[in-house]
Amino acid sequence: MTESAQDGEYDAWLDSIESDDGYYLECSNGHGWLPPRRVCPRCHDQDLARVDLPESGEIASHTTITVPTPQFEDDAPYVTAIADFGPVSVTGLVRGVDPDDVAIGDVVGLDVGERVTTGERVVVFRPR
Ligand SMILES: [Zn+2]
Repeated sequence: MTESAQDGEYDAWLDSIESDDGYYLECSNGHGWLPPRRVCPRCHDQDLARVDLPESGEIASHTTITVPTPQFEDDAPYVTAIADFGPVSVTGLVRGVDPDDVAIGDVVGLDVGERVTTGERVVVFRPR
């Protein structure tokens, strides 16, 4: 399994966000992806360069979870969202705003937080 190596790369990516040095991977055709990636899934280009993530993104979709799986029960209610940061879509939790007030188009910054239930690190969006 290459799973652990991939998890390690994802951890390193979370570290980069925590130190305000977040990046994404861009192929030579301008397709953006989050690590871990070795090949562009869209055009199969293997020449992926690190590019700085924009400081803010826009919420593209969101869902409020009021009845989570037992794994995350202490986190509820929480909002999961997909936000567009330049060419990349990032999935994370929205914090620092009432779940009812989250709207598509909201401008958010990128942060790293912890799941209340598990303490596991997770991508967090905060209103800017
Ligand atoms: Zn590509």
